[in-house]
Amino acid sequence: MKYVSLLGSTGSIGKNVLEVVRKFPDQYKVTAMAAGRNVELLLEQVKEFKPELVSVIDEEHADQLSSLIKATGINTKIVFGVSGNEEVAAFEKCAITISAIVGAAGLLPTLAAIEAGKDIGLANKETLVMAGRIVMDSVQRKNVAMLPVDSEHSAIFQALHAGRKEDIHKIILTASGGPFHGKETALLNKVTREQALAHPNWSMGQKISIDSATLMNKGLEVIEAKWLFDIGPDEIEVVVHPQSIVHSLVEYHDGSIMAHLGIPDMCIPIAYALSYPNRLPLKLDRLSLSQCAKLEFVEPDYDNFPALRLAFEALRAGGTSPAILNASNEVAVEAFLREKIAFLDIAAIVSDTLKKVAKVDEYSLNDVLEADTLARVAAEKFVKEKMV
Ligand code: NAD
Ligand code: MG
Repeated sequence: MKYVSLLGSTGSIGKNVLEVVRKFPDQYKVTAMAAGRNVELLLEQVKEFKPELVSVIDEEHADQLSSLIKATGINTKIVFGVSGNEEVAAFEKCAITISAIVGAAGLLPTLAAIEAGKDIGLANKETLVMAGRIVMDSVQRKNVAMLPVDSEHSAIFQALHAGRKEDIHKIILTASGGPFHGKETALLNKVTREQALAHPNWSMGQKISIDSATLMNKGLEVIEAKWLFDIGPDEIEVVVHPQSIVHSLVEYHDGSIMAHLGIPDMCIPIAYALSYPNRLPLKLDRLSLSQCAKLEFVEPDYDNFPALRLAFEALRAGGTSPAILNASNEVAVEAFLREKIAFLDIAAIVSDTLKKVAKVDEYSLNDVLEADTLARVAAEKFVKEKMV
């Protein structure tokens, strides 16, 4: 039995993790969970999975959940806040921690899990965007496995089994292009929240859905790939592939390109992170090659989707620039979701914040957290200016 700690259990990834675990009850048990405010769903999850430890966002929600759980007679300890997330992440019994909280809140619990010697199934890409060097140093020092859950990185991780690191020519990250692929700036300025949330191929949480529409998600993934695979920005290419069948590729020096194909279903990379190096018989729909005979690949449109370019620039600038990029993006996406700013304002606010907040080159964890705070303050100010 492999014991699992699940950060972000009520989210899109979290629910898919539970879906996989539900299919293999003799092999996996989720015994520690953390989530935000969705006490109703957490109660259902506690009833079904009977975890020993659960964390919620704050004391108020912890009290609510405690009284609901008491009535069921299940013996689960409830904790809350940042320390609660960390306690769940590092829960002694667990061998692997699935990091699937959204945004910057995922960083500290992921670090806590690594420091406690847990293998990591990483969905929370923001962790590596913010503090890639610190996180990967700690992965090495603790000798734990960092297993990608992001579908593109799971694909690359698998394609890398085909060759040696020194023989890699480049990594090719595929992007669906999101709901606005092929659209021009004039139209993009008018798109609504609902249109931006309607991803053509994947059903995901709200933040990553907006990131996919701006292509910032691919930008964050470029930075994630740099740290996961120890590869420079010049060796990472992004290609738009609207069908989301080829999940990413690795090209070797001899011209061979290894691709990973499959239906777009997050259960596949989640299961691989849980079972690595084995594979679970998932019994999902199978990919029919004849039905997906037409696979397109085109260059990304960096002019109409500047977020991707900004992410490459932040990666090249280094230091705390990616943390500044990430924090300002979170603020801008939140403002767009609250319908305070227009779609194209998101990348504009990220760009303005990167110019406004000075980066620190040799960063500590405190520098990262400080950069996150300063970028949020600056981005909030830019949001207010756009609102008038
Ligand atoms: P989501 O919004 O559906 O879920 C987020 C989860 O985090 C929820 O359980 C929420 O309660 C929890 N949460 C938020 N703030 C918290 C806090 N402060 N403390 C504790 N819990 C908190 O998001 P998602 O789509 O599941 O994405 C999660 C992460 O996985 C993101 O980093 C995203 O980029 C990444 N990811 C998602 C997908 C996908 O298909 N959804 C694919 C690849 C990577
Ligand atoms: Mg992805």
